[in-house]
Amino acid sequence: MSKQVLILGGGYGGLLTALTARKHLSAEEATITVVNRFPTHQIITELHRLAVGNLKENNVALSLDKLLKGKDVNLVIDTVEAIKPEDKRVTLASGETLSYDVLVMALGSETAFFGIPGLQEHSFTLKSVNDANKVRRHVEERIEAYSKTKNKADATIVVGGGGLTGIELVGEFADMLPTLCRNKGVDFKEISLYCVEAGPSILAGFNPELVERAKTSLEKRGVTFLTGVAITEMKEKSVSLKDGSSIETSTLVWTGGVQGNALVGASGIECNRGRATVNAFLQSTSHPDVFVAGDSAVVFPTGQERPYPPTAQLAWQMGETIGYNIFASFKGAPMEEFNPVFSGTLASLGRKDGIATLGASQTRLKGMPASLMKEASHIRYLTHINGLFSLVH
Ligand code: NAD
Repeated sequence: MSKQVLILGGGYGGLLTALTARKHLSAEEATITVVNRFPTHQIITELHRLAVGNLKENNVALSLDKLLKGKDVNLVIDTVEAIKPEDKRVTLASGETLSYDVLVMALGSETAFFGIPGLQEHSFTLKSVNDANKVRRHVEERIEAYSKTKNKADATIVVGGGGLTGIELVGEFADMLPTLCRNKGVDFKEISLYCVEAGPSILAGFNPELVERAKTSLEKRGVTFLTGVAITEMKEKSVSLKDGSSIETSTLVWTGGVQGNALVGASGIECNRGRATVNAFLQSTSHPDVFVAGDSAVVFPTGQERPYPPTAQLAWQMGETIGYNIFASFKGAPMEEFNPVFSGTLASLGRKDGIATLGASQTRLKGMPASLMKEASHIRYLTHINGLFSLVH
């Protein structure tokens, strides 16, 4: 009888699990169902570009229906409400309950607000296509409003957090705002664009030479960095900082960190700070019939104390390992251990600049070559999933 494989999440981990499992398992052997809250597979690594209109929505929101057409994968567009591993059941917002033989949790991460007062209420985030569209519309409206009222809060944009998400976003703002201002009859010199970072430096962990390069490149284009100072509160029109100062603004985009998906933490499977712990085969350490992919899992490289970072390139590779391991577990064959390949870290700094460290040698790239590599990695992903589609029987 066909086994039920239920995959929660249609992002990098979920989609790649579905396609890889289907590559190995016929429809008679397994019924594969993907549940996703949006009808699209969202390329969230490119949301910073959508947030300034430097990309069309259909480039980053790919129809799951089209992607899975003819692949014998059931698609349910609904929001997961509760996961009950003891009953092997998942409840959806519509009231529907789904049961499974094997469950894959691939629900991604959530923005962490760290309990900072007013932040969740008044800031914008960048975790979905909807979020990016909201940022774009809001900034356009504020610059338009500024052209009429000259209210300083409308001419001030703050990015909270100088990690990769914040830096890529501030780079896009730096490139887009001069044109937007010109179109709205505003002098770009009147705009303030801040990136506030609590740590001593932006891009913690990145090579210092590349960090310096990013800083200089962005400062030249009008970004002001405030480092070593945390955001402590957000009100409707002002951001308070730990040093007692405040910035008058109606736009804070919060990119200060991510945390495990709350549904995973609440499910009762074994977790480490809200992310599911897994063995080398990416099975939950407490529930072997549950695999966990992407940011929902915490994976420690053998013998190391720091887990792998929650990135798209890992999520997709986890999906592939899980897809294969589901097949292997059904057939009683040995499962494969998760051994990720790191292609490196690529960060765009707007349209024409970027920084990158590549491969095990940590080769450094900057400028247009890094920018082009970033573009190429986006295309590589799309080619990769298309390649997988054609392999699926
Ligand atoms: P992050 O956790 O990497 O960075 C958040 C930053 O916000 C940190 O530098 C932190 O010090 C700062 N911060 C936290 N609290 C603050 C406060 N109160 N005030 C001011 N600053 C504060 O989060 P991210 O940038 O969203 O990245 C999440 C993950 O996604 C990371 O693993 C990252 O490597 C990955 N990512 C990769 C890419 C890429 O490869 N191009 C792009 C985006 C994200």
